[in-house]
Amino acid sequence: RREAFLHSERLNIVSELSASVAHEIRNPLTVTNGFLQLLHGSKSLAEEEKTYIEFSLKELERAEKIVSDFLAFSKPQSAHMVYSNFEKEIAYVASIIKPYAKRHQVELNVHFANTLKKKFDENQVQQCLINLFKNGVEAMDGNGGVLYIDVSEKHKNILIRIKDNGVGMTSEEISQLGKPYYSTKKEGTGLGMIMVYSVINNIKGRIEVESKKGKGTTFLIIIPA
Ligand code: ADP
Ligand code: MG
Repeated sequence: RREAFLHSERLNIVSELSASVAHEIRNPLTVTNGFLQLLHGSKSLAEEEKTYIEFSLKELERAEKIVSDFLAFSKPQSAHMVYSNFEKEIAYVASIIKPYAKRHQVELNVHFANTLKKKFDENQVQQCLINLFKNGVEAMDGNGGVLYIDVSEKHKNILIRIKDNGVGMTSEEISQLGKPYYSTKKEGTGLGMIMVYSVINNIKGRIEVESKKGKGTTFLIIIPA
């Protein structure tokens, strides 16, 4: 089954969320994390006090995850526009995700065959790709899967296909994609896919999702050149 979505009302929420706010949260998180780590090493602490610090560190880690899913690459003050065929961006994000894939016993298989160029914000596109690649890897966690990334061109469109043979989704689950905080994962943020839809919408593209429960998922991104 193939379903296309353009959740415009959901995308509005994204533009309302100021990227710069979330960006600024990063630094205090890092600083607080550092001091808590130091405190945790102190010999004068009671066991109970140590437990409080551990809880705090765990919560900080969660906050960091939310910011990462949403803003790993965003530099809100400086949109970095490029005119590219996506080759550099795909290669860069693949290299970033590789260690993560390896830890989840997932292999990356990238095939690139596109000459068409498009103007886009490089930070946004990298953020979008990383969320899609991450989801693909997470869908195949521990099952020794392969994540196929294929970029091609057809009728003046750039096609980016991201295919996994992971857990898959029902149509009901597909329809939830891009809803803020929708996640079926224990430690999920449910923020990755809104970012994906928002970025693709910004470059006038669309996304088709093909998925079968227990078999796997293919995200096809169609971008007019
Ligand atoms: P998170 O990854 O934190 O759960 P996302 O917004 O990235 O949040 O994804 C939302 C949900 O969409 C996931 O929890 C999962 O249920 C589903 N999903 C996204 N990509 C895939 C995929 N490749 N295979 C199976 N399910 C997926
Ligand atoms: Mg995700």
